Amino acid sequence: MYITRSLLPTLAAAAAFVSTLQAQEPAAVLANARRWVDTLASPALHGRGYVQGGDSLAADLIAAEFDRLGLLPVRNSRFEPFSFTVNTFPDSVKLSVDGRALRPGIDFLVDPGSGSATGRYDLVHLRLEDLATPERRAMTMGVVTGKAMALHLPDTRNADTLALLRDLQDDLLHHGPVLRRATGKLTWGVARQAAPHPLLEIAQEAWNDSATTIHLRVANRLRNHHARNVWGLVKGRSSRQLVVVTAHYDHLGRMGPDVLFPGANDNASGVSMLLNLAAHYTRERPRYDMLFIAFAGEEAGLVGSRWCAVDRAFDLGAVKLLINLDLLGTGEEGITVVNATAQKDVFDALVAINTATGRLAQVKPRGPACNSDHCPFVERGVPAIFIYTLGGIAAYHDVMDRAGTLPLTDYHDVYLTLVDLINGLK
Ligand SMILES: [Zn+2]
Repeated sequence: MYITRSLLPTLAAAAAFVSTLQAQEPAAVLANARRWVDTLASPALHGRGYVQGGDSLAADLIAAEFDRLGLLPVRNSRFEPFSFTVNTFPDSVKLSVDGRALRPGIDFLVDPGSGSATGRYDLVHLRLEDLATPERRAMTMGVVTGKAMALHLPDTRNADTLALLRDLQDDLLHHGPVLRRATGKLTWGVARQAAPHPLLEIAQEAWNDSATTIHLRVANRLRNHHARNVWGLVKGRSSRQLVVVTAHYDHLGRMGPDVLFPGANDNASGVSMLLNLAAHYTRERPRYDMLFIAFAGEEAGLVGSRWCAVDRAFDLGAVKLLINLDLLGTGEEGITVVNATAQKDVFDALVAINTATGRLAQVKPRGPACNSDHCPFVERGVPAIFIYTLGGIAAYHDVMDRAGTLPLTDYHDVYLTLVDLINGLK
């Protein structure tokens, strides 16, 4: 069905139900993106992480969309299951300093690799000189037993110094809870192990150099987590080679029931693009077979994509190109192409498309980087790139990465560029 411009306003309103038919139209592509970002980043999906089954709920939704689009299963299944150990915080975390309650997620975060502790603690303030030599360290350890420690360590970007400070901190976590002032904004993550005590990262504005006592309640749960990659295939005109499009759907989840990490840009945006592309290629048969994979476990260390790369559910040698999509919600300053130096032909093709169309502010090359799900495939010799958008909001791995403030500035131009790139693969 051909859709005329005059139908667009109606289409935008109804796009939630007709995304398979009109996905090329900017309004329909964007409405579909908005719907998926809103859905995946909503509190009902619990940050697509490790409490309240968030990631599993997201997997079911994406699988249902693959079914609806008519994508074929792989190995007779919509899912590729795997499991791994993860540290979680199912219960509320609480911290007050000198009787003043700090707001979780805004004033402080519990480090993802934290252990548990509950109660009142006197605070010992420690400086680098208290830890610098084995003798001083031994003296310090003699006075910290049963107390919490506030670390006053120098800000540094030096990798060796950072590693040393991290070792000192890990050591202290064997003795009691540790408070540390955040160097930049509060940024969370996922850990697959837990220290014996909690590490609390305090926002600069909430840090108090002369605090004397804290009340603390942190209960971690280190457990085995079952997760699923979600996949679907679109048959091409030639099945000799395969184009793979990937995007991780997992995010950080929740820190207790009160603090949500919505993960709108990271990576509801990329999943929405994958779904828009899947919709497009179910209508317009691609040249090569196209495999769409929504990965789990990315934030825990590329666990889903690593498993996929060793599981060998498809022939890695037949992959023409793997395109990984992660952080596609902005675009004011164009896109970055990771692994551009190794995939020079692909990068040149993207630049040529953009020179001809002028859609994107820039197509910026970057060398190899093991920072998203393309990496396990690159390590196995699969031609792969990773694309993310530049500019716009700075929310990242924090409570501010929300659907309502995600601009999707150049989303449709990125979509068209990806279609052009895939259609142009020789
Ligand atoms: Zn991501």
